[in-house]
Amino acid sequence: MKLIDPILEFQSELRQIRRDIHAHPELCFEERRTAELVAQKLTDWGIPVIRGMGTTGVVGIIRNGTSQRAVGLRADMDALPVQEINTFPHASRHAGKMHACGHDGHVAMLLGAARYLSQHRNFDGTVYLIFQPAEEGGGGARRMMEDGLFRECPMEAVFGMHNWPGVPVGTFGVTAGPMMASSNEFEVIVKGKGAHAAQPHKGIDPIMVAVQIAQSWQTIVTRNRNPLDSAVLSITQIHAGSATNIIPDEAMLVGTVRTFTTPTLDVMEQRMQAIAEHTAAAFDATVDFQFKRNYPPLVNHAKETAFAVDVMRSIVGPDRVDAQVEPTMGAEDFAFMLQEKPGCYVFIGNGEGNHRDSGHGLGPCNLHNPSYDFNDDLLPIGATYWVRVAEAWLAKG
Ligand SMILES: [Zn+2]
Ligand SMILES: [Zn+2]
Repeated sequence: MKLIDPILEFQSELRQIRRDIHAHPELCFEERRTAELVAQKLTDWGIPVIRGMGTTGVVGIIRNGTSQRAVGLRADMDALPVQEINTFPHASRHAGKMHACGHDGHVAMLLGAARYLSQHRNFDGTVYLIFQPAEEGGGGARRMMEDGLFRECPMEAVFGMHNWPGVPVGTFGVTAGPMMASSNEFEVIVKGKGAHAAQPHKGIDPIMVAVQIAQSWQTIVTRNRNPLDSAVLSITQIHAGSATNIIPDEAMLVGTVRTFTTPTLDVMEQRMQAIAEHTAAAFDATVDFQFKRNYPPLVNHAKETAFAVDVMRSIVGPDRVDAQVEPTMGAEDFAFMLQEKPGCYVFIGNGEGNHRDSGHGLGPCNLHNPSYDFNDDLLPIGATYWVRVAEAWLAKG
């Protein structure tokens, strides 16, 4: 591996920063301490900052030379509402909150790159270091964009990275095109007419209608969707009724839809609504259909992905970069940035979990798991990747 020596020299300081953030997790749009820490470190290293973008977002700006060219590197800062079961010294000090997705490590890796870039400046142009709030469902990336991220910080391309458990340390994975799914949620209320359970002919049973809708919706995935374009429709809640002898007025269906493309998402939403409305009509019931699109599919741009693959291979070697990694049905709000700017999002291997200090919760080291911990061995690898992305991007013709 070709890691940057000065970054290796302050690896222990990066580990300290990472563990400090891990011990003080903050949820969506509440990342005040984390943002303060980021802004303070950047300022200490002589890097000008913009604060409060998209509520708690921070942007560090490193300019060098005379070129007008610019590139953006993005890390997310928020934690999850999870009760950590690890008991090592840097375990969460806040009940019910935990860095179970490794965003503590993402912040530390980008800080490592910031420090090196500000001290060595082997580039001509501007590097924007984007520390965003609220990746976990809050759409912090979009909020920063609405607050003028790309207007105030005009950049040619933007790059993102996430640690990936179960994949060896020192490896990367990426693919051009869709790599993560769109995330959407629905809530459908079937409105019937309540009655005594022994007199069903005097009512309209919403439970029967809800069950018919639930069954029929599965045909969308098998009969309406292009089989070459994946989709998931999961009903995760069905609620109705209060007693054994009452037919209720209403029944509710709640769940999630995931797709890799917007046309397939359009098909899913249109067919779900049509089936719900027409099924209800067939039984003299009505529906209230709510469908909310949260994050769009994350689609890597081809040229920037090829560029990122070259950078990763120059660091860890050609065999340790999977350039056609299997996409995941998880979602990621960096997708919003890739809708406006060319760029690429990569996975960096977090290992199998045996990096965890004694005192870890003995569960799997998976994202969003209460015994997860970010692997500090990644810090110099990720920071080196960020530095080389910035240097190579601004150097290329
Ligand atoms: Zn997450
Ligand atoms: Zn995450």
